[in-house]
Amino acid sequence: MIQNISILGSTGSIGKQTLDVVDKLGLRVCALTAAVNIELLEEQVRKYKPSLAVVFNEDKALELKDKIKDTDTRVLSGMEGLIAAAELPEAELVLNSVVGMVGLRPTIAAAEAKKNIALANKETLVAGGDLVTDAVKRNGVKLLPVDSEHSAIFQCLQGAPTNKALKKLILTASGGPFFGKSEEELRDVTVEQALRHPNWSMGAKITIDSASMMNKGLEIIEAARLFDVSPENIDVVVHRESIIHSLVEYSDNSVIAQLGVPDMRVPIQYAITYPERYESPVRELDLAQIGNLSFFEPDYETFVCLNVCKKALAMDGVATAIANGANEEANLLFRQGKIKFLDIGSLVKGAVENVDNFIPASVEDILRADSLARGYVKEQVR
Ligand code: MG
Repeated sequence: MIQNISILGSTGSIGKQTLDVVDKLGLRVCALTAAVNIELLEEQVRKYKPSLAVVFNEDKALELKDKIKDTDTRVLSGMEGLIAAAELPEAELVLNSVVGMVGLRPTIAAAEAKKNIALANKETLVAGGDLVTDAVKRNGVKLLPVDSEHSAIFQCLQGAPTNKALKKLILTASGGPFFGKSEEELRDVTVEQALRHPNWSMGAKITIDSASMMNKGLEIIEAARLFDVSPENIDVVVHRESIIHSLVEYSDNSVIAQLGVPDMRVPIQYAITYPERYESPVRELDLAQIGNLSFFEPDYETFVCLNVCKKALAMDGVATAIANGANEEANLLFRQGKIKFLDIGSLVKGAVENVDNFIPASVEDILRADSLARGYVKEQVR
């Protein structure tokens, strides 16, 4: 097992759960990063004594530097700091759980520095596409999924036959808080309602993505990139209980599933200890107590983000970065109360249809597409 881990986004939901796993495994934390939450970051620095702490916000970084001047931890800020945390010489694994596109450069930097990457930042793979997967291949490092569905697929693929017998990936979706609701019923839903996820405890951005099913759209793209499977071979099934985390179907129609209680510490730990398994703080699955598992076809008409993401994936080029950028902006505007819930889907759809698609040659191209998409959304809302 690895001994030294760098955690990007340590004050978020995944970051905190990662530290819980790290405690049980007894690993050394060599870098911690946060966007703005220096109160929690200070606590974490005092407990884990990393050699580097990064705060994305520069003013907050200065504040932290002052607060922890009695420690040996170095403090950096901004993108430069995130990249330094990703490249830190002593880190064997970089767990990237920052939220959004901001995770792109650090992920590529980690790969170039020959670090294995545990990826909880799906936006990176959705927007960065081949630039990320090529960097991973070129440097011979592992890109280990932390997303529960992708971890499930990765687990189902262990011991897969080598004769290209994989037929289909089946992603499960909880359906979020608005499963079964009509467009009419969704017209005036509030941020508070959208934040009430039935099964998973997650950060605000992903919980809204889950309500709009954009999360599942992003996950289709993520799966295509992680497992090199074409869009038509990725299905989505709504599974309300979130017990089956995803499935793979082989050419003999044998379907293999991964099950467990919905707790992110299982996929986090598997990404850290892969290919080994260890005891986990997560409780056992009691199938008899659960009783029934249910499955439904997704409502593609009401939750337009699913098909928009499939379309963007098929378009190639920066279309997936456009879909992601438009969504990051729309998701934020919704949380700020500036647009309605259904506007999220319309804006993402509009961006994919109207912002010019092109083949990216560099990270700068991805960032440009991202900013064009955000610009489109702002323009429409103004
Ligand atoms: Mg997921």
